[in-house]
Amino acid sequence: MMNRSRPGCDRESRMEAQTHPVESTEQKTWKFSDIIGDPLIGARWEKVRRYFFLRESTYDMTNRCNIRCDGCYYFEGDKQFAHENQNPADWRSLMKAEKARGITYVVLAGAEPSLVPELCRVCFEEMPLGAIASNGLRPIPESVHYRIHISVWGDDETSLRVRKAKDMLVRQIANYQDDPRAVFVYTFTRENIEQIHGVMEVLSRHGCKVTLNMFSSPVGYTGPLRHTPQSLARTRQTMVALISEYPENLLFSPYSAVAHTHIHGLHVLYSCSYPRMNRSTAIGLGRSFRQYRADLSWDRTAACCVPDTDCTDCRHYAAGSAVVTARLFRHASDPDTFRSWLDYVDTYLAVWVMGYERGENLCDHMVAPPGHDLPEG
Ligand code: SF4
Ligand code: SF4
Repeated sequence: MMNRSRPGCDRESRMEAQTHPVESTEQKTWKFSDIIGDPLIGARWEKVRRYFFLRESTYDMTNRCNIRCDGCYYFEGDKQFAHENQNPADWRSLMKAEKARGITYVVLAGAEPSLVPELCRVCFEEMPLGAIASNGLRPIPESVHYRIHISVWGDDETSLRVRKAKDMLVRQIANYQDDPRAVFVYTFTRENIEQIHGVMEVLSRHGCKVTLNMFSSPVGYTGPLRHTPQSLARTRQTMVALISEYPENLLFSPYSAVAHTHIHGLHVLYSCSYPRMNRSTAIGLGRSFRQYRADLSWDRTAACCVPDTDCTDCRHYAAGSAVVTARLFRHASDPDTFRSWLDYVDTYLAVWVMGYERGENLCDHMVAPPGHDLPEG
């Protein structure tokens, strides 16, 4: 979610520029002005930087869910025990206060926001930009004009086993087909990699937009969904094949595949800037981000977009959308690396912002994250 630390225009990024000399693997030193002097790069840069104003926080709308999935990070830790505040007036006051402190984008999540539609409506009335993370089994009223991310964890047989819910895809499509708010988010686990082909075929046949996510283990989780080096490599190959197979329906880029399936998680690759891993209160997300629980309290030491996730295994799409996009200057080393970053940001905006239209990927091959090797396999 963009700017969750304002890429490129906050002090965090400027400081990074000072510590990362602009050198390319081709032994040429590039100036930023030369990189964006390329017409395609320059146009995309102008397109995405209009959204640098986005500043995000996240909110647990309720501690109830209508299903119970294995490996759900919401039901780890103590946030699930927060006493629910269901008073619309309190939520309205919170949104006004959030706006006053500079928040411009909200993510309504944990556990299942569709169970509290009135609270979602109040949030939308006060804060017009945002997204809702939902399992898609209950439609959210059309008056709530946020992006709606519908979680898919495999085919319906797998969903029945892992999420204990029947006919999930069928019901999700019935609720959200032709809904411009909807993006289906397919989460790759170690066990469901090949199932994406059948799921993608069904979703594309119904004209649905899709993006890709990686299962990221909750703290202490060692179960069968956790990725291995082999499953990361298989997932990466699958993702890259899907990009060319479904250009109309899939919101994803080769660099997204690299960033999310690398042997190293997002924190090692990009230095996570959420307060939970970043004690600085002076800059970026460390300064502005809060993760509110269902009782409207928040805890700085636990605050990130996927609380109670194991940081060493964090490859979550929501985390990447903030952590990767914040590293603008690190990627301004040469045209291909910057193209890859622009593709990542363009993808992220299309997934998270209503009305944002994604362009074609500028870089059609995988590029290594700055300071790291390309993933093997
Ligand atoms: S639908 Fe989401 S919140 Fe509910 S149990 Fe599954 S992962 Fe957790
Ligand atoms: S779980 Fe991910 S997003 Fe959260 S603090 Fe750890 S690395 Fe950052």
